[in-house]
Amino acid sequence: MTFTIERSQIEGLVRSAIRGSLAASSAPQSASKTLAGFQPPGWVDGKPNLRVSISARHVHLTDEHVEMLFGAGSKLEPDKDLYQDGFYAAKQTVMVVGPRRRMLPNVRVLGPTRPFSQVELALTDSISLGIDAPVRHSGHVHDTPGCVLVGPAGTVKLDQGVIRAARHVHMNFADADHYGVKNSDKMQLVVKSKECSVIFDDVLVRADEAAKLEVHIDTDEGNACNLEAAMEILLRKDDCGCQKK
Ligand SMILES: [Zn+2]
Repeated sequence: MTFTIERSQIEGLVRSAIRGSLAASSAPQSASKTLAGFQPPGWVDGKPNLRVSISARHVHLTDEHVEMLFGAGSKLEPDKDLYQDGFYAAKQTVMVVGPRRRMLPNVRVLGPTRPFSQVELALTDSISLGIDAPVRHSGHVHDTPGCVLVGPAGTVKLDQGVIRAARHVHMNFADADHYGVKNSDKMQLVVKSKECSVIFDDVLVRADEAAKLEVHIDTDEGNACNLEAAMEILLRKDDCGCQKK
């Protein structure tokens, strides 16, 4: 039996091997492992392993805002690891308050902290808060509405940063090669569900060396296609031929 390794796989293997050899520096015997034993992050049995996750409403905070909300010297306390390595849901939650005192209690804080604070909501959330949040990719918060965050030790007024997070897919470069896409390309996510199949366009590729293949959609999008009960899920290159700019 013969098998061939695609260039993308080789690149992924080499990257993983480099990481593996760094991680194994205190255990030199693992350097003798065959190259085939290494896989890009998130791969299973030599293949990308597609995962689609619903990002429920959440908040990202700066170090300074963590202290203002939870008390001087406070740090985020990791509660649950997210699928992407190094990211976690914190034990802490905040209340998000909109105009006319409408509010969402117990909104989860995700870590680690960031250089700016940001609130990510689904459309349903933003309607109940009375905030007209635009669809934006993470970090693109210019000209977005603000809100007030309330924690056990204080409040923070954000002048901007309330968004509906735009759908996107995290992947490493081996995944990107596998799908024939690159960072900031758009893909399609096809979710086949009984009586409510949906094709999501505009799934932005966010390629990063350490990322694992994972699509992030919000709760409204996940509910629209009944993701929990999906029969088939497909991620594909958006090759309709029309370059959307
Ligand atoms: Zn994401």
